[in-house]
Amino acid sequence: MLVPIVSNKHQDFSYPRKVIVAGSTGSIGKSTLEIIKNNPEKFELFAISAHSNLALLEQQIVEHSPKYAVVTDAGAQNQFKSKHTEILSGMQELCSLCTEGIVDTVVAGIVGIAGLTPVLAALKANKRVALANKESLVAGGVLVREIIESGSGEIIPVDSEHSAIFQCLQGENVENLKSIILTASGGPFLGKSLDELGSVTSEMAIAHPNWSMGAKISVDSATMMNKALEVIEARWLYNLPEEQIEVLIHPESIVHSLVNFYDGSQIAQLSVPDMKGAIAYALSYPNGRLREVVTELSLARIGSLNFESVDHQRFPALGLARRCLKAGAATSAVFNIANELAVDAFLKGTIGFLDIVPVVEEALTICDVQEYRTLDELLALNEDVRTVLKERLFRKE
Ligand code: NAD
Ligand code: MG
Repeated sequence: MLVPIVSNKHQDFSYPRKVIVAGSTGSIGKSTLEIIKNNPEKFELFAISAHSNLALLEQQIVEHSPKYAVVTDAGAQNQFKSKHTEILSGMQELCSLCTEGIVDTVVAGIVGIAGLTPVLAALKANKRVALANKESLVAGGVLVREIIESGSGEIIPVDSEHSAIFQCLQGENVENLKSIILTASGGPFLGKSLDELGSVTSEMAIAHPNWSMGAKISVDSATMMNKALEVIEARWLYNLPEEQIEVLIHPESIVHSLVNFYDGSQIAQLSVPDMKGAIAYALSYPNGRLREVVTELSLARIGSLNFESVDHQRFPALGLARRCLKAGAATSAVFNIANELAVDAFLKGTIGFLDIVPVVEEALTICDVQEYRTLDELLALNEDVRTVLKERLFRKE
């Protein structure tokens, strides 16, 4: 039975809503700040946080005057001077801001497993989390669901596919749902032969044809690991068995995903590919859509939309995600951390593009891990896997 992580447990949705943007200097973070700036009567920026691009953080402090700004590195804390914004450092400080009574929504825009701790802190404090950070759910899905099912914290998805499904399910009886269909652009190399893929560089992998995104997710899109992570993300968000999560290639990235009902109907959500649409939907839900968030879609101008089924030979990553879902949750955590390490190694030039998925597959075989029950156990599992993989797969580093 589908039990979404999102429910109307909160009673007070009144504006203005106080927002924390974790990962404000990233692609999701910047889009979120733009929406908040354009809707000052609805949203107040309480805090922002960043790990990298601190020059941009400084600009954001000047432009948006949040009450707090958090840098991960304590050494960098003193380089900022601001009359209106208090500068803090470290993940612990970000987590405690996420639990402040005054905060309504935390936008999870940090990339990778590093984003899990603030997500859990916010959910435990019964906040609404607008979740872009899919790695949190892939690695820590069990912990996230446990907290949500026992409290009033909730997640509104920001990942465009999961937002599309959330939007398509509004007003529907979930018992009529046969499956969900996640669309995948196929990334920048959809038409390339396996031979051509062998010589792909990090610059080529980062240049996505439709979406403008951070480096890691761009590489994930090119390897189809992004869709693999999203299949696991959907499992935890919507509590669906793996067989009810389908994937469809759609190179134009206009149809963001579909839901498939037992009566033979499907409902899809369409827009130009711009993450501001999904972010604004999550920020404003359930108060109604904001105005003029993204450029209006003109299907007449686009003319035709294409769809094809996934070629599993070319994109073995999806098979790995399904293997993870059939195994325990710890296998997904290994899958996630192995992919983070592999992408990092590819971006540094240590491994080739076509090595990424095999390295992750090998990691699933060599890392025999115990199921985790707590955040500490999950973080320890991550460290163990990191050590084993660095030793066995990334020795050249
Ligand atoms: P990005 O690389 O552009 O930005 C990441 C942000 O996280 C930056 O502010 C960075 O300083 C911060 N950060 C990085 N490492 C950190 C650490 N160790 N501790 C604290 N902060 C850290 O990434 P992005 O493209 O904005 O993606 C963010 C998340 O959203 C990812 O999980 C991604 O999969 C997901 N997502 C992104 C898009 C997109 O269009 N960019 C779409 C869907 C989902
Ligand atoms: Mg997505």
